[in-house]
Amino acid sequence: MNFSAAGEVIAFIGLGSNLADPVAQIGNARAACAALTGVKEVAFSGLYRSPPMGPQDQPDYVNAVMAVATELGATELLRALQGIEQDQGRVRTGERWGARTLDLDLLIYGDRKIDQADLTVPHPGLAERAFVLYPLYEIAPALVVPGKGPLVDLIAHCPLDGLKRIE
Ligand code: ATP
Ligand code: CA
Ligand code: CA
Ligand code: CA
Repeated sequence: MNFSAAGEVIAFIGLGSNLADPVAQIGNARAACAALTGVKEVAFSGLYRSPPMGPQDQPDYVNAVMAVATELGATELLRALQGIEQDQGRVRTGERWGARTLDLDLLIYGDRKIDQADLTVPHPGLAERAFVLYPLYEIAPALVVPGKGPLVDLIAHCPLDGLKRIE
């Protein structure tokens, strides 16, 4: 997949929600990401349902992965994604991996490896998370994840862990 023009970078965004109509939250977030200036949708995976990480006393998540072509820098893109989380009513309780209306993670930003205080790319959890790898595989099966290797190899080492595609 390489639909980007000069000056654009292909980035992958992980979407998750487990509160307040998750399927609608994901749909709204998709539209909001595509509507950002300097961001175009390139591909969108199917929707998946996954059991929660961390605290178990919360609903299952709905997850998806979106590919975009962007003129924004990685930090700028993260800030824009955090703005969309806020717009969709995300409340940061301080509890790690607690329930939320919307979580947008910057999974991959072109071939870049970024290690800043507020931004690590590729996303550090990517290689161990079925709810990231399987939807990603749907839209970019030949992807090589910077610093981590071919996506197919990561998938081969990652059990489904209760992940189900939603029809
Ligand atoms: P996880 O990052 O393990 O999926 P989470 O999504 O629940 O957990 P958040 O509370 O949404 O974590 O984010 C915590 C911080 O992670 C954010 O303030 C952000 O600066 C930082 N962060 C670092 N790298 C990334 C990235 N690639 N995408 C999104 N946030 C990131
Ligand atoms: Ca746009
Ligand atoms: Ca996350
Ligand atoms: Ca996050």
